[in-house]
Amino acid sequence: MIEVKNLSKRYGKNYAVEDISFSVKEGEILGFLGPNGAGKSTTMNMLTGYISATSGSASVAGIDILENPIEAKKHIGYLPELPPLYLDMTVKDYLDFAYSLKKVSLPKRAHIQEICGLVKIEDVYGRLIGNLSKGYRQRVGVAQALLGNPDVLILDEPTVGLDPKQIIEIRNLIKHLGKGHTVILSSHILTEVQAVCERVVVINNGQIVADGTPDDLSTAMTADHKLIIRV
Ligand code: ATP
Repeated sequence: MIEVKNLSKRYGKNYAVEDISFSVKEGEILGFLGPNGAGKSTTMNMLTGYISATSGSASVAGIDILENPIEAKKHIGYLPELPPLYLDMTVKDYLDFAYSLKKVSLPKRAHIQEICGLVKIEDVYGRLIGNLSKGYRQRVGVAQALLGNPDVLILDEPTVGLDPKQIIEIRNLIKHLGKGHTVILSSHILTEVQAVCERVVVINNGQIVADGTPDDLSTAMTADHKLIIRV
């Protein structure tokens, strides 16, 4: 579903992401794990067309993201690390607004209602986003990512800043969404990707240092002390 080949992003002389390659199969929940500054958001932003790549290629559902970002974006729902939520809007107004931006062809009311049910935000539908807990705000962010029924969901550090109960709820939601979508979960928390993901790609200093199942990763980390420190 996603193919990334030799993708790089350079700022001046420095590479934020350097020559990375990985793929994500249809229906897979992939963890994209790395410490702060590793290059996770840069990679997610290239995959979603928010920033351009310096070199390399990336495709979603066979569509080249770098050459045809408008068509590729139709297949991707994105929750950025800092979602642009409008705190003085109600959930309803915000989702109506997001729907209009995405030019979704599905019937508006039924589609939004279905998504609100899926992410469990029906009870706050009429409330101002600014009055919601961080956990509910993330659910609203996931709801906007789901508009248009994308094949792929890209979630950039969706549990940062949440309390333990909210973290568990969002992780369970991601696992549930993974039953109908291909998902990339960016995270700096090893136990999170182990709990949620079927496969994990590890990025450090802009380069991929591991790619395998969560069990493979645990074995590699036990055997390689440097990897423990890096992760
Ligand atoms: P975090 O978890 O802290 O968000 P990350 O893994 O998402 O980290 P990135 O935000 O992708 O990391 O940053 C990777 C590297 O690229 C960092 O060294 C960062 O300082 C650098 N970088 C990111 N954006 C820019 C930019 N616009 N200009 C210059 N350097 C940048």
